[in-house]
Amino acid sequence: MKIISKPLELKEYLKNNNKTIGFVPTMGALHEGHISLIKKAKDENDLTVVSIFLNPTQFLKGEDLDQYPKKDEADKKICELAGVDILFFPNVDDIYGDDEVSLNAPNVRGYVLEGNSRPSHFNGVLTVVMKLLNIVNPTRAYFGKKDAQQLNLISLMVKQLFMSVEIVPVETLRDSDGLAKSSRNAYLSNSQRQEALKISASLYEAAKMISRGILDSDKIREKMIETLSPLQIAYVEILNRDFKSIRKVEVGNSVILVEAIAGQTRLLDNLWC
Ligand code: AMP
Repeated sequence: MKIISKPLELKEYLKNNNKTIGFVPTMGALHEGHISLIKKAKDENDLTVVSIFLNPTQFLKGEDLDQYPKKDEADKKICELAGVDILFFPNVDDIYGDDEVSLNAPNVRGYVLEGNSRPSHFNGVLTVVMKLLNIVNPTRAYFGKKDAQQLNLISLMVKQLFMSVEIVPVETLRDSDGLAKSSRNAYLSNSQRQEALKISASLYEAAKMISRGILDSDKIREKMIETLSPLQIAYVEILNRDFKSIRKVEVGNSVILVEAIAGQTRLLDNLWC
């Protein structure tokens, strides 16, 4: 595995090859969820590039940028064992300069759900993803369905800015008890982790209702909110795949999104149904 930290060196290294490139951008503290993206990238491309970059511009003041788990050596080992060809591991000043051009998330879809509690978060996400895609110039880039709004906005950016990369959504990987894998799960105490199981449980309840033919969004939300109690809920939303609110689940074209707070930790999960 080759490790490169300079964007221009990586561009130079990757240019003029006729190989397909699969790219997996991450913020590090890698877990099995990340590895499932890497595996898919490896299966579908000649070369696999992973980036590890804790992107400061997507954190708001007072968020967990300084506490975010850092596991550089373990991450390198994981990438090596997973068969990654190139690990891009830049520093902040390799990616950002003084007076920066940046992208703005769309006014509606960028400021609902996660963007409501974290305004400007998605400006940082889109800006860094654009930079990374321009550096790596991949054939395909892999993103988790767990971060459904992020996936939606990145797909929108690629479409609206006429970029040629293919965005590949990857299923959410969970612990055996249902909790979606996340680098932020490391913040949870045992009792908070137990409470956090209510998040996947609420989605499981929703799935059961839908399989019984109960499609009414209000009824499903009500059951989910009851299941989530006493967790603090940031949102429970039922949307179609264009991220518009719907009164009835459109089977095969809907997504149910939850954000709840266990202790101080914001946890996201969703069901594509
Ligand atoms: P992060 O390092 O948290 O920015 O995540 C990097 C990529 O991994 C993003 O595309 C995430 O959506 C994806 N990801 C994170 N957790 C999971 C998971 N449990 N299952 C699948 N993909 C995930």
